[in-house]
Amino acid sequence: LAASGGGLVAYADGRTDDSKESSQVAPKKKVVVLGTGWAGTTFAKNVDTSLYDVQMISPRNYFAFTPLLPSVTCGTVEPRSIVEPIRKIIRKKNEEIKYWEAECFKIDPKSKTVYCRTDIGTNVEGHGEFPVTYDYLVIAVGARVNTFNTPGVAEHCHFLKEVEDAQKIRRSVIDCFERANLPDLDEEERRQTLHFVIVGGGPTGVEFAAELHDFITEDLAKLYPTIQDFVKITVIQHGEHILTSFDKRISSFAEEKFQRDGIELQTGFKVVKVSDKTLTIQNAMHEDSSIPYGMAVWSTGNGTHPVILDFMKQIGQEHRRVLATNEWLRVAECESVYAIGDCATIAQRKVMEDILEIFRFADKDNSGTLTVKEIQDVLGDICIRYPQVELYLKSKHMSDIVDLITASKGDIQKEGIELNIEEFKKALANVDSQVKSLPATAQIAAQQGNYLARCFNKMRDCEEEPEGPQRIKELGRHRFLPFRYKHFGQFAPLGGEQTAAQLPGDWISIGHSTQWLWYSIYASKQVSWRTRALVISDWTRRFIFGRDSSR
Ligand code: FAD
Ligand code: MG
Ligand code: MG
Ligand code: MG
Ligand code: MG
Repeated sequence: LAASGGGLVAYADGRTDDSKESSQVAPKKKVVVLGTGWAGTTFAKNVDTSLYDVQMISPRNYFAFTPLLPSVTCGTVEPRSIVEPIRKIIRKKNEEIKYWEAECFKIDPKSKTVYCRTDIGTNVEGHGEFPVTYDYLVIAVGARVNTFNTPGVAEHCHFLKEVEDAQKIRRSVIDCFERANLPDLDEEERRQTLHFVIVGGGPTGVEFAAELHDFITEDLAKLYPTIQDFVKITVIQHGEHILTSFDKRISSFAEEKFQRDGIELQTGFKVVKVSDKTLTIQNAMHEDSSIPYGMAVWSTGNGTHPVILDFMKQIGQEHRRVLATNEWLRVAECESVYAIGDCATIAQRKVMEDILEIFRFADKDNSGTLTVKEIQDVLGDICIRYPQVELYLKSKHMSDIVDLITASKGDIQKEGIELNIEEFKKALANVDSQVKSLPATAQIAAQQGNYLARCFNKMRDCEEEPEGPQRIKELGRHRFLPFRYKHFGQFAPLGGEQTAAQLPGDWISIGHSTQWLWYSIYASKQVSWRTRALVISDWTRRFIFGRDSSR
């Protein structure tokens, strides 16, 4: 009876033995994601949780929209408006992504384990540290501030990396004004207290300087009329120009605008020491001078987290500054570790390293020489595998490799050309000069997270059917194309409702209309309708009432 009952139940369920079997397939592979920033969050949002058991680990239980961080430093936008709880983002219909609020302090690729530490609930004996094992690890811990081991920076300078940093800066700016306004200060002390110094003329430093200038002229000057003349903003930049990652036109426009606004630019100086009241700067001749300041913000680029440095040592990358991955974003030394976003860089293979293989691959008839036809047949593959080739051709205003080859042969006739290996080498000798490392931006981190998620989603299909079902075939011969960055443009807000933008195709746009483009794009890029509504209402409030200057 029991047996037949069981049979009936099975029948009522509509299950057959077949489906029972398929529901007992191997357990899902465990994917551990470190970090809830741009890269990690985008990966988690796009990975198929019916295929993987995904766990996220980060000391920050929210995603922060970093491009608006400079606006938080002056209260243009409130901190709560640019953050979204990670649990809200990763909540999916049925399949759940787990999240642990902890910091990973050790990665052990041999035992496929990450060791984590949390400071919540650490008063309980034996709690606070735990290991997590993985089948695949996705490292997306971002970068930390690089102080170049300059003495005094960590103690006396503000950073601008996290939401807390922006909040601290906001309080500190107000503090400086209140302090400078006290009755017992002499003029010199007031000047010093109201001297705001920004170290680093990259996008973050420049945007902060512009934002601070607006805050002071639009809001604070009216509230502190007696001391407004003592205010000074200085940007110290090691190189000759600011915003060097942008087009020259944008960089010069920014420099001119800063000059008109009275923001002082000290280019060609390096900060070598910071004390509580002065910064020591050095010029190219190694001559020191000191700058008294009231508040300093350090924004000079990225460094590597200690946990990553330790991991790099374990896998033999100790000679590098940044963790390197291959073009598929996998750490080449480890079968199952991937790294995306600011914590990693892609080590692009050089054409010259592979030139023999490329030659053999192209030489389909094994004749030892390449005809134009043979070269044309593999052009697409070469350009996909080595993006520098396309960049090189573009820089030479050539349309394809055949142009390069005719040029190297000094011939005008394409037909009848045959190249031996030496000639092939000579033709491609300079293309590797165009290997470029990608900058550390949210745009790239997000694209990498998305790309890797798509690879993960396809991975099982590819394993089960090595030839690939039709669906995969349609995606192209290369099931896993290497990561390619698509540039959608880059903004540099310069204050006074003016923004510069470098758009795809080297299109430059500067001014008030670009500021509106900036508003609309940044509103549309928000992760949720909640933050979108908050950010837009913050902007509106600022337009009508100005910024809040209370502590
Ligand atoms: P992050 O977003 O920094 O995320 C790292 C995550 O890892 C965080 O959640 C962190 O808590 C977590 N983490 C850290 N250590 C550990 C650990 N040991 N274990 C576990 N988790 C850990 N880019 C643009 O494209 N446009 C802009 O306008 C722009 N403006 C910016 C303005 C400012 C002020 C800043 C600071 C950056 C700006 N960027 C901008 C750059 C952009 O924010 C970064 O490139 C992007 O955040 C990189 O993403 P990520 O996921 O690699 O790192
Ligand atoms: Mg991240
Ligand atoms: Mg982030
Ligand atoms: Mg990177
Ligand atoms: Mg041949």
